[in-house]
Amino acid sequence: MGKFDFYERDACLLLEDLGKIAEPSFQEYETTKYIVNYLRENNIPLDKVFATGCFGCIDCGAEKTIALRADIDALPTNPEGTDFKHLCGHHSHTAMLLLALRYLVQHKDQLKVNIRYIFQPAEELGNGALFMMKEGCLAGCSEIYGVHVDPHQKLGNILLKPGEFMAGATMFDIEFTGNSTHAAYPHTGDDVLVAATDYVNLCQKIITRFKNPIKKAVLSFSQITGGQAHNILAEKLLIKGTYRYFDAEVKELFEQKMLAIAAAIKLIYEVDVTISSVEGTVPLHNHPELTRKLIEVFTGTGLHVNTNLDPMMGGEDFSFYLDECPGVFVKIGVAGNNGHPPLHNKNFFVPVEAVLLGAEFWLDLVMNQFTEKEK
Ligand SMILES: [Zn+2]
Ligand SMILES: [Zn+2]
Repeated sequence: MGKFDFYERDACLLLEDLGKIAEPSFQEYETTKYIVNYLRENNIPLDKVFATGCFGCIDCGAEKTIALRADIDALPTNPEGTDFKHLCGHHSHTAMLLLALRYLVQHKDQLKVNIRYIFQPAEELGNGALFMMKEGCLAGCSEIYGVHVDPHQKLGNILLKPGEFMAGATMFDIEFTGNSTHAAYPHTGDDVLVAATDYVNLCQKIITRFKNPIKKAVLSFSQITGGQAHNILAEKLLIKGTYRYFDAEVKELFEQKMLAIAAAIKLIYEVDVTISSVEGTVPLHNHPELTRKLIEVFTGTGLHVNTNLDPMMGGEDFSFYLDECPGVFVKIGVAGNNGHPPLHNKNFFVPVEAVLLGAEFWLDLVMNQFTEKEK
């Protein structure tokens, strides 16, 4: 039985309530109200409350302050964007941190560090962390920690990986425009579809021929729209996609070569090619020394520490905090013996046991990690 099992009723309730509310990025109004109510009911001090998101501090008078972050947004379950669910498990992150804060505020006399907690909106858009940082959520903090559930790991496992952990991400839209014509007479106009498919194929050579093979990267074209009939060459074609990287030089390579290939395609096919990019997350690097300390703290506890894993090509906006403040992003397994639906899948769920383990993780991190250092 874990330290936190006596909170099981609370954990069920939080998971259920937050699961029912489930709101999209920067529209987490009711979710924020729910969190703020819980914090107030449990006498946990609040510093700033926004329309979506909030932060505060349990100040025990220590010199050092560490930040603990939970994200709060949900995802759409249909293309129309009218129904939302916590397909990424952020409601469980919120529940874990609320439970831990409730315990920590009741045991404030045992704290060796001040606790800045952050309930962050809009992780899925990749810019909620930046919003909270602009509002000062990291002020005075010397370390930051974050947790995410992981369906690829068994319940009871935690992943702690020093160094590069999750990729930087850029999203792009590329528009091809030309003179539409009869499909039987292609020489009388432009073929944006052939131009676009050649563009897609040439761009894959950035990975195989231009990038240093040792460096990790992926480039995916994921959406194509355009055209209206079997016998009309389209006037316009839009393709969308994303590339992921860990090194700044790889990102630069993508930028340069995608432009160079666009210029070549323009020349060959006499079509217009315009690229617009949206910066997503920056690469996430866990602080090596702080990660090693966590590995020490959690080895031999009820959790199984897994350090042997590859970096992930997914992005996570916790990386923006780590650019300013040393810290660690941790994954907590949620899978049963027969596997688990993946993140962002319509069947994804978080078992209540994972919430209890997550709360216990926060508690152990706060109570043990820093005792020695603060003595
Ligand atoms: Zn997600
Ligand atoms: Zn997520």
